[in-house]
Amino acid sequence: MPPLARVSLVREPTPLHSAPRLSEELCVEVWFKRDDMTGVGLGGNKIRGLEYLLADALAQGCDSLVTGAGPQSNWAMLAALTARQFGIEPYLVHYGTATSATGNLLLCDLVDAHRYFTGCPDRTSVDGEIERICSQLTAAGRRPYAIPRGGATSRGVAGYVRAGLELDRQCQAVGIAPTQLWLATGSCATQAGLLTAACWLGWTTQITGVTVSRPRKECTARIEEMSAAAADLLRIPVNSVARVCVVDGYIGPGYGIASPAGQAATSLVARTEGIFLDPIFGAKAMAALIDAARGGRVTGPVIFLVTGGAPTLFASTKAVTV
Ligand SMILES: *Cc1c(COP(=O)(O)O)cnc(C)c1O
Repeated sequence: MPPLARVSLVREPTPLHSAPRLSEELCVEVWFKRDDMTGVGLGGNKIRGLEYLLADALAQGCDSLVTGAGPQSNWAMLAALTARQFGIEPYLVHYGTATSATGNLLLCDLVDAHRYFTGCPDRTSVDGEIERICSQLTAAGRRPYAIPRGGATSRGVAGYVRAGLELDRQCQAVGIAPTQLWLATGSCATQAGLLTAACWLGWTTQITGVTVSRPRKECTARIEEMSAAAADLLRIPVNSVARVCVVDGYIGPGYGIASPAGQAATSLVARTEGIFLDPIFGAKAMAALIDAARGGRVTGPVIFLVTGGAPTLFASTKAVTV
């Protein structure tokens, strides 16, 4: 991996293990890559990007971090939690209004992050508020580090390029050549990073993202753009061009709201493998994989990336705004 400033947060490598009972159920060989076990907080994929973003904040001498997302955002909570580890003061902006302190909201309270609610359900209402808080902090003589809503930046994408190399070594060690790697896609940073690694290493593994929020076309464009930007930032050669594969049809009632298919998938994985998938991302991605496997559209071995999100298992994901 070419040098790019990074702090160490992830207890790497996260486990890669087989899922024999689920495999039997689906008649496809399934493996789990456990990024719910990244080792900070209750784990999750966002920690990998934060290794690069926080290193940049420290290099710039920043004393505060300003970012935002929905109130139940895994990203916002983990950004605040990890910023605190480096003495950086976290400021979080959420769209919507304050609700009862459950799930990530409860954890944000424990981290003692500064909190702002835009009072408007529109996600983009966060962006102007991030700018306003940064200006205020700057005027007060502070050095804020702003990260756009959800944390999807080319620097953050580097986290999953690194994860791709880690996974490649693990697959070689256990002797599997996965045909597909499945994951949930939201802001697209995770899929973009894995795609960059795939193009660099010349993988034949198809990386399949299941969109949980944006339309498929928007995801495809974002993944291509973010992947190219990350390759540029890291100055890594792109040795092959992998096709971006995004599956839609599994958002259910909406982003941040649990779906019946997702709940059934979560229950199956809990009963067979003892793993709790989160309702907003992992559950929906697994529902898509189950359908594809039962429809005979997947030949193994397939790896499913468990991306974390455990706090939202304890939040209301039935509400319209999360
Ligand atoms: C953010 C998140 C994702 C999606 O990752 P992106 O990089 O935003 O596409 C998947 N699962 C969980 C639990 C997340 O918090």
